[in-house]
Amino acid sequence: MASFVETVITEEELKAAQAFHGHKCPAMPQGLRAGHIAMDILGVQRARGGELVAIVETGYHHFSGCFVDGVMVATGCTLGKGNLVQKPLGKFALTLIEPKTGRAARVTPGYERMSQCLNMDFFTLRAQGVPPYELDPAVVEPLIEDVLTRPWQEIFSVNKFARYPFARVPEDFSAVQCAGCGELVVTSYAHKFQDQWYCEPCLNEMLHAGHRVTESR
Ligand SMILES: [Zn+2]
Ligand SMILES: [Zn+2]
Repeated sequence: MASFVETVITEEELKAAQAFHGHKCPAMPQGLRAGHIAMDILGVQRARGGELVAIVETGYHHFSGCFVDGVMVATGCTLGKGNLVQKPLGKFALTLIEPKTGRAARVTPGYERMSQCLNMDFFTLRAQGVPPYELDPAVVEPLIEDVLTRPWQEIFSVNKFARYPFARVPEDFSAVQCAGCGELVVTSYAHKFQDQWYCEPCLNEMLHAGHRVTESR
């Protein structure tokens, strides 16, 4: 079991995170807290670049996906910096990795907690199609307060890894011009075909066209 002193999420940070996220809900603060706990376990600061990598297990089009936005705000692992990896498993775990050392922490809200949440008015109303920003603050605010103040042990399970299997991919600073559409494409995403570079859609188009010619013969 990991021992750590938990960073208290300030009103200021919560407000900034809510401004970024766009509405008030309990899932985003849960991600914010999970992110801080993972950083507290590892004893690391918010990432400015690639010092940290976050793997999130939430998928698409399901409840509580907002969790990821909290993780981004807390850890500094973002889509743009390429250090936020979404492994869509339909689960709510965050694994925070420090690539330099290979150390990692996995923080996940427990089964009990998440299944209790699904029975709350907030989620019942959301399931009925009410957008979060139209919900009565009286429904939402107590949930936010709860997710931020309840002892972490009642919400999260945590694991610490001395060496987490993670392959670092170097950043590609080169690009080529696609022989098909003429657009620029990063070399590691380009494909060489008959001595010319192609982006993936153009390559697929050529391959399909080639296939049709062969068949019509
Ligand atoms: Zn939300
Ligand atoms: Zn192209």
